Amino acid sequence: MKWYQLDVEKVEQKLHVLSSKGLNKKQVEERRKQYGENELKSQKHTPRWLIFLKQFQDFMVIVLLAATLIAGLLGEYVDAIAIMIIVLVNGLIGYFQEQKAEKSLEKLKELSAPMANVLREGKWEKIPSREVVVGDIVRMNSGDRVPADVRITKSNSMETEESALTGESLPVVKHATAIRKDHLDAQDQTNMGFMGTLVTRGSGIGVVVGTGMNTVMGQIASLMANTKKTPTPLERRLAELGKILIVVALLLTALVVVLGVLEGKPTYDMFLAGVSLAVAAIPEGLPAIVTVALSLGVQRMIRKKAIVRKLSAVETLGTASVICSDKTGTMTENQMTVKELFLNGKHIYVSGDGYDIHGDFFLNNKKVETDYPNLRKMLLYGTLCNNSSLMVKKGKYFIDGDPTDGALLVAARKIGLKPIDEEKFKIIKEIPFDSDRKRMSVIVEDENGKRLLITKGAPDVLLPRTSFQLKDKNREVLKKEDKVKIEMAIKDMANNALRTIAIGIRPLTTKDTLDDAFLEKELTFIGLYGMIDPPRKEVKAAIEECRQAGIKTVMITGDHVNTASAIARNLNLLPENGLVLEGHQLNQMSVEELEDIIDDTYVFARVTPEHKLKIVKAFQEKGHIVAMTGDGVNDAPAIKASDIGISMGINGTDVTKEASSLVLMDDNFATIKSAIKEGRNIYENIRKFIRYLLASNVGEILVMLFAMLLALPLPLVPVQILWVNLVTDGLPAMALGLDKAEENAMKQPPRNPKEGVFSRGLGFKIISRGILIGLVTLIAFMVTYQNTPENLVYAQTVAFTTLVMAQLIHVFDCRAENSIFDRNPFGNIYLVVAVLSSILLLLVVIYWEPLQPIFHTTSLPLKDWLLIGALSAIPTVLFAFKRSNKE
Ligand code: ADP
Ligand code: MG
Repeated sequence: MKWYQLDVEKVEQKLHVLSSKGLNKKQVEERRKQYGENELKSQKHTPRWLIFLKQFQDFMVIVLLAATLIAGLLGEYVDAIAIMIIVLVNGLIGYFQEQKAEKSLEKLKELSAPMANVLREGKWEKIPSREVVVGDIVRMNSGDRVPADVRITKSNSMETEESALTGESLPVVKHATAIRKDHLDAQDQTNMGFMGTLVTRGSGIGVVVGTGMNTVMGQIASLMANTKKTPTPLERRLAELGKILIVVALLLTALVVVLGVLEGKPTYDMFLAGVSLAVAAIPEGLPAIVTVALSLGVQRMIRKKAIVRKLSAVETLGTASVICSDKTGTMTENQMTVKELFLNGKHIYVSGDGYDIHGDFFLNNKKVETDYPNLRKMLLYGTLCNNSSLMVKKGKYFIDGDPTDGALLVAARKIGLKPIDEEKFKIIKEIPFDSDRKRMSVIVEDENGKRLLITKGAPDVLLPRTSFQLKDKNREVLKKEDKVKIEMAIKDMANNALRTIAIGIRPLTTKDTLDDAFLEKELTFIGLYGMIDPPRKEVKAAIEECRQAGIKTVMITGDHVNTASAIARNLNLLPENGLVLEGHQLNQMSVEELEDIIDDTYVFARVTPEHKLKIVKAFQEKGHIVAMTGDGVNDAPAIKASDIGISMGINGTDVTKEASSLVLMDDNFATIKSAIKEGRNIYENIRKFIRYLLASNVGEILVMLFAMLLALPLPLVPVQILWVNLVTDGLPAMALGLDKAEENAMKQPPRNPKEGVFSRGLGFKIISRGILIGLVTLIAFMVTYQNTPENLVYAQTVAFTTLVMAQLIHVFDCRAENSIFDRNPFGNIYLVVAVLSSILLLLVVIYWEPLQPIFHTTSLPLKDWLLIGALSAIPTVLFAFKRSNKE
């Protein structure tokens, strides 16, 4: 017998589980041992030693190793060993960098891993899908991925999309009854849910019958493509740039070597110098450092509760010019409290805050008794047409499920209505809420077998479906003037920033069809709920900060126009003459027409997820880089189309998370702002170390080139060049990647996404500082060499020290876009430490006798440091003053 052929009770028996209880801890543990983790095992891990070896397959490293070999063969053992050690250390650094990047990506994967709702020991809990075991009772809502293969035990209009398995993209309606047929294919097993398929509508509960590789998906897992890391635009651009730089560096190096040989210098010396120079000057590690900087940035974002799913998003974030954000839950707390009822044509006010169950009802400032006509009815129906539960933990009440529904439970509790009262009714059918329908219905049967449809939803959606109203004890036809009165009440509540929900009923007989199409009409209006959802405290400031950073914030909501506008005004999001557009207006507009007014529009109300796509397109046509948030299944297309798709970590569905490039762990708008700020910062930091590295390289090449042109001896020996490449160019560059943003970072318009790496004067800065670094090093060399021509090692040591110091001073200049004095030069503690340790290593190489023969150095007398200090400060100081004069 197959699972789909068995009745639910049979399935549960076989798996030793009750759908009301779930598994217990012991069972879970046993089964995890028996079946392993619920994972598809398709990816292979690269072993560590291979990662280490990979560091040496680099072309330049191979050249270096060849040079070592030649040096060894020629009997230059000191050179050979020194180069060997440097190559090894270089490899180790590369290895650790890669490890770090890998680890942070792994952590990311873990953070964005899919979760599952399971029932264990009678309690619903959210666990990583990986920990689901056979026999678990799981609940799936629209937008979720089915966590394992399950036999459906309950379906609320649940539909799944199984194209990943069957190729069929039409949704399949799921039910719980056994199918007594043999040899059914997966697509015909309509009472089964399959791992990895998507719930597109409704919700359902199922018992897990297969996990991991023992699922239908597991059987075809080998067919699934492994996701490969694609380079980000910046990495790609740098890789291309790198190719050009390699050619330039090689040409210059060749020039140095040829000049040297022509001047009669020993060929071996020139060869080794050429190789080291090429190794030092070619920024072959640039893309790798960029990756490290990006993944370090990603880690910082995690600490700020933003999970980046695609590395490229880090770059795009810095260019965002519009944020389209959901209102409910992202800008607001999503903690609803019913504050007002409209019942029997009167406004009734409700006291009490949050989910606290204490509160009273007031009419004209007088307390209303619980037997007030229809009050009990309205509140009871609100708890029946409901998908959440009110829970208590350590004396504090909270909601499990939709907060809008939760608010209705709390309101009912204020007159003492409890779940027990609901148990007198049996729910026969549920048509779930979604943002397109903007309403939810249930059919209930009371103790006497009488059936009732209860519908609640957006008032402007419900009213057209309403023909009657409840007045005192009677049902009467809803007249035009009654409708006007209700509409006024809706506007009135919405103007006070209240979220409005209407509730209505329709008596049914057992003969009536339960077909969706016939149900939600000819309703009898009962009343309106008005609930507040306070804005999150930090949102107002975040919107303001974005505005100063040239980023426009737009509110998108399914809520009523007036509610949305009122909250938008509170948040200072909607200016005096800003436009508010409604979904029905969007319907009548083409994308072009929308483009014309979109820059003046700040709020989109009563929209459905489809409208979001149109909004994204219109903004993009206008040249904007759009960040768009979403949580439901239907938001996925718009999220995909936007430049930065953002999903919700808490209330988001799996589909939107998969479509998004950024997940907000706290669902908070302010987190988007933090992520953008971080995104800008990371890009600036990358610019900083490109600036530093390339200027250093230019300096290194030029000092050698100048010396050859002037027919001087080599100012630097090969190991010194390699040392500079490793130490001076290594540590400080990484520290620049950890720099904090400049103070004015969020006071400037977003970066133009088309701008090149060298824009905003970066190219000039690199070349001018590079030339200066080369020049001062050469001068230091020449001055010393002229005084003591017999002691070349001494002059070389001075040149080496000047080069290193000039770079180490210049690195502080790289922290600021304008002048080094714009900010405390020593504000980056990592950089200070990196520079100090570089200086320490420099002193060791110069003054520690055992190392002197290896690095061709000699101890410098104190007086030389004056010369070195003065010269090495020039490249930085010269421009610092020049600029401050100008300003
Ligand atoms: P948003 O998330 O932007 O506030 P929704 O699509 O969730 O928009 O809600 C739109 C409207 O649908 C709300 O203004 C409310 O009137 C109604 N609504 C929201 N949640 C529910 C629910 N659980 N049941 C019935 N109606 C709801
Ligand atoms: Mg909502």
